[in-house]
Amino acid sequence: MNAIYLDHAASTPLDPQVIAALQAALTGEAAAGNPSAITHAYGRAAAAQIEHARERIAALIGATARELVFTSGATESDNLAILGLARGRESFGRHLVSARTEHKAVLDACKALAKRGFEITWLEPQRDGRILPEHVAAALRPTTQLVSLMHANNETGVVQPIGAIAELCRAQGVFFHVDAAQSAGKLPLDVGAMPIDLLSLSAHKMYGPKGIGALYVSERVRPWIEPLMWGGGQERGLRPGTLPTHQIVAFGVAAELARHRRLEDSRHFDGLARRFKQSLEGLPGCRYNDAAGGGAAAGDSAAGEAAVRHLPGLVSLSLEGVEGESLLAELPQLALSSGAACDSATGEPSYVLRAQGVPRELAQSTLRVSFGRGNTLEEAEAAARYIRAAVGRLRDEDDAGEPPGGPWLQGSAGSLAEGARIRCFVRLTADGRLAALQFRLAACPHTRMVARRLEARVAAGPCAVTELGQPAEWAVDAAVPITKLGRLLAVEDALRRAVDSAAAARSRTIEP
Ligand SMILES: *Cc1c(COP(=O)(O)O)cnc(C)c1O
Repeated sequence: MNAIYLDHAASTPLDPQVIAALQAALTGEAAAGNPSAITHAYGRAAAAQIEHARERIAALIGATARELVFTSGATESDNLAILGLARGRESFGRHLVSARTEHKAVLDACKALAKRGFEITWLEPQRDGRILPEHVAAALRPTTQLVSLMHANNETGVVQPIGAIAELCRAQGVFFHVDAAQSAGKLPLDVGAMPIDLLSLSAHKMYGPKGIGALYVSERVRPWIEPLMWGGGQERGLRPGTLPTHQIVAFGVAAELARHRRLEDSRHFDGLARRFKQSLEGLPGCRYNDAAGGGAAAGDSAAGEAAVRHLPGLVSLSLEGVEGESLLAELPQLALSSGAACDSATGEPSYVLRAQGVPRELAQSTLRVSFGRGNTLEEAEAAARYIRAAVGRLRDEDDAGEPPGGPWLQGSAGSLAEGARIRCFVRLTADGRLAALQFRLAACPHTRMVARRLEARVAAGPCAVTELGQPAEWAVDAAVPITKLGRLLAVEDALRRAVDSAAAARSRTIEP
């Protein structure tokens, strides 16, 4: 694993000080104690460590320790905020407001409520990804219980104007939840200065361990949150279960570091993003999916919020005319993601970018580069160099001109929006067999492999088209997943069209 790590928006490495704290908490005297067992010194020591950590985490967001509830991460925090409040306020109304560009933890919690008869208003972002406060205001109804919006988007880095939205929610008596998993420790965040009722945090996005997070619950909203689980009454009844002392201690150290390093970190991240973009200058068809053109310096205080429109160090770029999966495959030197990590499995282009109005064709070729503390300017430059070279190689394979050695007859099929764009060039022998075959394509690695195998078969000697076999057989030969059969059908279509046009051309030259 010597790829350059550029996926800090997915998860960060543990800070060495966090590791030390984790080890000390696991091996120290308090390790045996259950923090709820305060009848003896072991339990009390564990409880004291947890309370110290709770204060440190609260300080990062301007909260008091009493207002923090530990969870397993921001996913659980989002669920507790949304489902807990919806259930607790159900008798007052069943309407919630959120946005299409939220994290799945928020989207799917809201969708689960919708199945049970709640009404959700889904706000649409502007083309720059921002949700307008006036759109939030217009969505509020007398039955609205909660507005849930993220601070900074995990795919694009777009920062929402949460200060203005918090004010208008408070003025209307509506509770406001903010998913701050990406922004905590990078942007100024003060629940004392902004009327936010609920706020989600995750340790592993700020150099802490995975599997621990917190939900800020203001005293104002607390009576209205119904717990999602039942048990020993820990966390003031909102989240039962024995607290993981070591995880929490480590989270506390991570939060303390994040608070002290915020300005230094965000300047470093901005500098890396700027250098990366400078190094990509002049690359044709490279578009950035962010509000500010990226790299706006993080403001020094909450007052500077209006100026901060982008998460430091996160660059989302779409590369015209290349296929996203092949682009990633051509970049083994870089550890990064194409849109949300959660979505890589489905193969669907990012719903966040689509909601922002990015066309399918561009959404599928998007890279998310997220810089972190350990990255250097040299790495930012190297990343840009690798991307430039990979894009160049892929565009060569899809060269718009004819292959050398013509004349050729050609057929084409598919589009990048559908996952594969194929052009096929053939020459036939006098008896109608394939004498030469060349593909020019923008497609996934599997489809490219199939195309290269077909070319190699014909290069070995003229053959009948039927001897090349069927897409289902190609899929087996090249171990292509069944979900990609559609792309192989495009290869077949392009091939058939090329052969048909060649046959037609031949009959034209023979018949007169
Ligand atoms: C990572 C992330 C989450 C999920 O956090 P976990 O701690 O991994 O559950 C939720 N929301 C946003 C914006 C995130 O970036």
